Amino acid sequence: MDLLLKGGVLHDPVNDWEGPAEILIKGERIEAVSLSLGPTDVPELELEGKIVLPGLIDVHTHLREPGGEKKETIATGCAAAVAGGFTAVACMANTNPVVDSKIIVNFIKERSRQADLARVYPLGALTCNLKGEQLAPLWEMAQEGARGFSDDGRPLMDSSLMLKAMQFAAVLDLPVISHCEDLSLSAGGVVHDGVYGHRLGLPVQPSISEAVMVAREILLQQKVGGKLHLAHISSRESVSLLRWAQENEINFTAEVTPHHLLLTEEAVEHFNTDAKMNPPLRTSMDRDALLEALQEGIIDIIATDHAPHSPREKEADFLNAPFGVVGLETAFPLLWTKIVEQGLFSLSDLVRCLSITPANLLGVPGGSLSPGSPADLVVIDPCREYVVNGNKFYSRGQNTPFKGWRLKGVPVLTMVGGDIKMWQGRVKGVSHDFPEPERLLYKLRE
Ligand SMILES: [Zn+2]
Repeated sequence: MDLLLKGGVLHDPVNDWEGPAEILIKGERIEAVSLSLGPTDVPELELEGKIVLPGLIDVHTHLREPGGEKKETIATGCAAAVAGGFTAVACMANTNPVVDSKIIVNFIKERSRQADLARVYPLGALTCNLKGEQLAPLWEMAQEGARGFSDDGRPLMDSSLMLKAMQFAAVLDLPVISHCEDLSLSAGGVVHDGVYGHRLGLPVQPSISEAVMVAREILLQQKVGGKLHLAHISSRESVSLLRWAQENEINFTAEVTPHHLLLTEEAVEHFNTDAKMNPPLRTSMDRDALLEALQEGIIDIIATDHAPHSPREKEADFLNAPFGVVGLETAFPLLWTKIVEQGLFSLSDLVRCLSITPANLLGVPGGSLSPGSPADLVVIDPCREYVVNGNKFYSRGQNTPFKGWRLKGVPVLTMVGGDIKMWQGRVKGVSHDFPEPERLLYKLRE
């Protein structure tokens, strides 16, 4: 449907726009953006007091399908995405079967077409079955639409194979996304090697198990070039290495998750399995270093590492419960309330980390509302309050460490390709009370 968005404040750093704007959407695309577009013949939507942003793009999501449908499906994951303001997600390859062939890449594309909510960009595995022994058919998967490669879930230990993978990916101009963890150093640790882990008597993993691999990846990158992306950086040692890489003009992008930015190892107290993730939450010094790196632009992407598990699995004892937390539905309100509203980071910089840089990394549309680009956007209500409650998630996972947190900055409308996929917390095709198109227009005007 054609639509004119009026009265909202647009933050579109690519077009240097930060202020009131009228946005005209024709079909699937942005037709025009201006202070005032004058009378038009299309329906208008009044957005007074709201903020309009380019759609958020998550470069690190686990959609679990195929094989993990009890935790999440592509459809439920996409519903969670649009509920959280994400118009696109890149999904990791550690499914069952693993995304290591064009057949599985195609399966994911087909399933996301059926879900018809967020755009889904499959990531292929670096090695067959994530075994770290033999390169997966990267070219074939790229031809089918894979937008990057990663062995996230089972990190690639063989450095020469990693080098080869990076050389291949560079030719394809696609990123290699590395989960940096030396498995011989992390040695089955389930929490950070710190006060809280020791107090609980749990096996620990030290920061250097991450940092050693960050060092490896940036040295390999210095040799190869291409696109290197470092997933979920969690320690101050890693930040120091990234600072060195930046000073030496080595090209990379790096991400931090909202949970590593906002929580510390303290969250694992009382054996809280909702705070069990990999890499683990570390100390307040690590958390501060991550924020500083974000402010300095050393870390330039925020990704959720959305990793749903069924409530039953997370009820296991801490040692046996699976790693991971959900993130798509809480990321924006958390970052808005705890980082932007606190004056620690500007909204435009947040748009860079959640939309512009992710679009560039994956080489996909998005990141701006330039005329002619797909109408992928999110409308935020900065004042609306929201209390995190896993029972209300669209995701099948309820494993959030932020239960009960009072937040603001709630996404109230998500549009993908000109189509409203989420309106006031209701998701198209999922919520029984999502209005029919004519009725929606009427409702929008209320
Ligand atoms: Zn990972």
